[in-house]
Amino acid sequence: MSAIYRIRIDSRRCQGHARCLAFLPDTVDFDDEGYAYVPEEKSCRAEMTDALRQAAANCPERAFQVVAEE
Ligand code: SF4
Repeated sequence: MSAIYRIRIDSRRCQGHARCLAFLPDTVDFDDEGYAYVPEEKSCRAEMTDALRQAAANCPERAFQVVAEE
């Protein structure tokens, strides 16, 4: 069975500096207080991509995570 990749942003860690937005401009959004979130309908992907990897790797707070689900 192939995995589904789900994006999660830990709101306790996010500091709102928007590095993730640079890699996923059509996916990441920001709330009224300037913290990142991903709308539910955009949070699942059928495959891991460079943009997902880069967004996670460049989040200095380790708030942006991509989790593989069976
Ligand atoms: S790069 Fe990380 S800490 Fe910064 S806005 Fe994105 S998720 Fe939040």
